[in-house]
Amino acid sequence: MTVKDLTKTFPVRKGVLGRAAAVIQAVTDVSFSIFPGQTLGLVGESGSGKSTTALCVTRLLDVTAGSIVFDGQELADLSRRNMRPIRRNMQMVFQDPYSSLDPRMTVKEIIAEPLRVYGAYGGGGQGERKVHELLEKVGMNASDADRFPHEFSGGQRQRISIARALALEPRLLVLDEPVSALDVSVQAQVTNLLRDLQDAMGLAYLFIGHDLAVVHHVSDWIAVMYLGRIVEYGSADQIFSEPTHPYTQALLSAIPNADPTKAGDLDEKIILTGEVPDPADPPSGCRFRTRCWKAEPICAEVSPELVDNLGIGHPSACHFPELRASGAHQ
Ligand code: ADP
Ligand code: MG
Repeated sequence: MTVKDLTKTFPVRKGVLGRAAAVIQAVTDVSFSIFPGQTLGLVGESGSGKSTTALCVTRLLDVTAGSIVFDGQELADLSRRNMRPIRRNMQMVFQDPYSSLDPRMTVKEIIAEPLRVYGAYGGGGQGERKVHELLEKVGMNASDADRFPHEFSGGQRQRISIARALALEPRLLVLDEPVSALDVSVQAQVTNLLRDLQDAMGLAYLFIGHDLAVVHHVSDWIAVMYLGRIVEYGSADQIFSEPTHPYTQALLSAIPNADPTKAGDLDEKIILTGEVPDPADPPSGCRFRTRCWKAEPICAEVSPELVDNLGIGHPSACHFPELRASGAHQ
């Protein structure tokens, strides 16, 4: 999938009379590529536009502008009807396995549903066998098929969501904070499962998270988002070990260092002050400048382009990018 200059605005009504129309700039000029067998991680604070990006690239939302090419086909202006055959190749997994699984359906019905919708369930016990195989693929038992979602833990429910997403053998999974609601100990089990499935099936992932350590663990490439824009984009290891954008540096500095013997490697902690600005009225120039300790007058005037100013192989949207060893482990 190649996304180019994706933009999504939402209309809002402002003022007591609700007359003055304004727009929320949820996603602005976002570009990235996702390759077969690889993961692009999308990371940023709440409100940065990650879910909106996910919903646009799967065309669960209409896009305001930009291009989304999937397997050589432009999706941005496809009708709902023409999206239907494509949608089976790109499935979503959501954050909350409690609300995304219908509590009245058995696990078998949940996993079989997409197969039935596309007429791929198959008679003569074929459908059941598929469901059982899918359950085993995600580390569950075939005997779980007749149970209900509430009988399972959060991690198990997320495995069921993944089995359902895999039912139609998609090429791309869009995972919107798939482990954010899970206990830390369970997060690694689910991310490891995702990696194993990717290796076995050659799946492409768009993996969304707000925790850079988790996103780094599963990603080949990472795009860091702030207030609707990508501010830094590169290989996961480069973003993790050589961040050049102040926002990425702040995100990294918030990761607790698991190994105290390495504490000496760490730079001073960066504590971001101030609130995330209102996306209906983002700051002029660089959207991060109101929280940036390096901001200069130019930052209020000119929106920095996402370019590789330092010539180190990954672009950063900052007027004053600076290589800063993060001290974070890989
Ligand atoms: P994230 O997933 O990174 O937390 P979102 O994509 O959910 O961010 O939201 C980005 C911005 O768009 C937020 O300011 C949010 O309030 C706004 N937004 C998201 N969906 C809608 C909607 N349907 N209508 C209006 N505003 C929305
Ligand atoms: Mg979200």
